[in-house]
Amino acid sequence: MEKKKIKSVSGAVSFGMQKSKGQHLLKNPMILNEIINKSGIKPTDIILEIGPGTGNLTMLLLEASKKVIAIELDPRMVAQLLKRVAVSEYQNKLQLIQGDILKQKLPFFDLCVANIPYQISSPIVFKLLSHRPLFRAAILLIQREFAMRLIAKPNTEFYCRLSVNVQLLSKVEHIMKVSKKNFVPPPKVESSVVRIEPKHPLPNINFIEWDGLLRICFSRKNKTLGAIFKQKKILDMVYNNYNKIKNINNNNNVDNNNQINVDNNFEQFGMELDEEKNNNVNNNNFDDDDDDEKMDKNNNDNEKKDKKKDEKK
Ligand code: SAH
Repeated sequence: MEKKKIKSVSGAVSFGMQKSKGQHLLKNPMILNEIINKSGIKPTDIILEIGPGTGNLTMLLLEASKKVIAIELDPRMVAQLLKRVAVSEYQNKLQLIQGDILKQKLPFFDLCVANIPYQISSPIVFKLLSHRPLFRAAILLIQREFAMRLIAKPNTEFYCRLSVNVQLLSKVEHIMKVSKKNFVPPPKVESSVVRIEPKHPLPNINFIEWDGLLRICFSRKNKTLGAIFKQKKILDMVYNNYNKIKNINNNNNVDNNNQINVDNNFEQFGMELDEEKNNNVNNNNFDDDDDDEKMDKNNNDNEKKDKKKDEKK
């Protein structure tokens, strides 16, 4: 199959975009500038960019900040970006790391500004929120539906476990809508820019227990909480877990006032959401009638199809 040759604002790109890597370059200079304006970048800031691609956003970030640390998976993108920066005045301000963002230890940064690969949005958000020391904010271009879930309030269509957990750890704000027309190649879905500001200090709760509770609360979309907690299997499970934790705490003489373990629990949570998406399984083995998970499964099926297409090329 012939590879699609496309043009970005930087000029000709001589390789095909891989949808399985979420490669949709943002090409509209007005939107790019709007993202920079809304990010509140100071000239002294160190910026983290995830998936810089050919550098459409990177060049503007370099101009506005002290330094950009960009992490990019695709070596072809890395080569293209290096070429572009080499002929600019910003060569010394860019630190470009070739690798998978999910496998990297994140460096210190003040702000994260990025058009991220949509298929790993959840793990990215929780990786950022588990990073220490805390950053000022993350301004992320993401799939509109994911943005709606991040900002959703109780009693609304998109309110889910993701909404509760992200809002527990941060303040999330919808900044602007971005139409698919602004990308090359255009994605199938619409997009939005959100601003995520980590909360400080964090609420003093045990995140594993909290998330366990949420899993139960959101296990059946059309049931009230009262009805969910009256089910015998739920009551048995809660009681068994209570006894298990009591035993562990007694044996280890653990301080019951468990702080959130920021190092791995959140990151783990982002991954789990992704695994649930991949396997379409509900960890508690409840009936799966949750629209969100069905939606995730559809998205994931599309991603798998895209990957196969990319491989054929
Ligand atoms: N920021 C660019 C490109 C966005 S497309 C622009 O707006 O034009 C998403 C980018 O993320 C692609 O360059 C893709 O190669 C990269 N990417 C995909 N998966 C990644 C991962 N796991 N780690 C780092 N970069 C990744």
